[in-house]
Amino acid sequence: MAAAGASLTIAAMNTSTTTSTSSALPRIAVLATGGTIAGAAPDATNTSGYQAGVVGVGQLLAAVPSLATVANVQAEQVASVDSKDMALALWTKLAQRVDELLASSGIDGVVITHGTDTLEETAYLLHLTVKSDKPVVVTAAMRPSSALSADGPLNLLNAVTVAGSAHAKGQGVLVAFNNRIHSARDVVKTSTYAVDAFHSPEIGALGWVQDGRVEFQRAVVRPHTTATPFAIASTGAQWPVVEVVTSYAGASRIAVDALVAAGVKGIVVAGTGNGSIHATVQTALAEAAAKGVAIVRSSRVGSGHVMRNGAASDDTLGFVTAGALNPYKARVLLMLALAAGHATPVALQQVFDTY
Ligand code: ASP
Repeated sequence: MAAAGASLTIAAMNTSTTTSTSSALPRIAVLATGGTIAGAAPDATNTSGYQAGVVGVGQLLAAVPSLATVANVQAEQVASVDSKDMALALWTKLAQRVDELLASSGIDGVVITHGTDTLEETAYLLHLTVKSDKPVVVTAAMRPSSALSADGPLNLLNAVTVAGSAHAKGQGVLVAFNNRIHSARDVVKTSTYAVDAFHSPEIGALGWVQDGRVEFQRAVVRPHTTATPFAIASTGAQWPVVEVVTSYAGASRIAVDALVAAGVKGIVVAGTGNGSIHATVQTALAEAAAKGVAIVRSSRVGSGHVMRNGAASDDTLGFVTAGALNPYKARVLLMLALAAGHATPVALQQVFDTY
């Protein structure tokens, strides 16, 4: 396994040192963070009892000799984690490194290899905070690198291909997975095991990548990257504490009361249906909102969006709606909005209606 922070430059099949590069090809930085794409199991038929994040980036790149035909790749091991354990400090480090690399005239795009579990959160964070129009493409795998028919090598090749494409510029952060290209805002993990594990519910993928061809079929509409006021430099390590609670039959107010007592700045609710909330939880959240805790209504349903529900209900309690963002992406936006000083329900709703 490569040490975190180590860097190397790849051309053709050489994975250990700087070698000759082709000036005609785009220059892509691959930042490895771990995940199943860097996972290894005791045998090739084991796709569940493996350890994520144990294979170094040099080995990942060496498994894909065709990379040398699509880009001049330089690689860094930013971390080696199972993305279920993604930490805010690592988000800060990763986002700052992406900005640093993209600010360099020697880099045309960035690819991030990541675990699938929290990929949609990291991708959306970067979509909101990266300060460059150059392509940033996140990819992953559902099968460890040691598996029969591992999906990581092709996903990596496709991600580098997309990052090197002129069409990917200005599209915000993209997720290349199983031949499809998704917007970081829309994409969610939808399967616990299938190779086709990422979808953009209702809206669909932005486009596709296959055999070296990149095609976009629609564009991202909401502001992102350079068009947002959010930046990791301004957020620093001071992430406001925002947690997620859910609503279900027989729900109690225990979780909400505990979070308020712990001093959280925001709570996202994974509500039922149109972000509806059990009356018991709703009462606890209303009391929290009255104390200044930001409350955002999202839905546990998995597709669709949450509408404001009118004068006599959640809106008058000071709750904000997350629109089409799932609870975990809503949490990302709420943290950034609170860190940027948006405090009132009106200001926060404006943020959720915009980004
Ligand atoms: N637990 C792994 C991770 O998120 C799952 C994966 O990558 O597919 O790192």
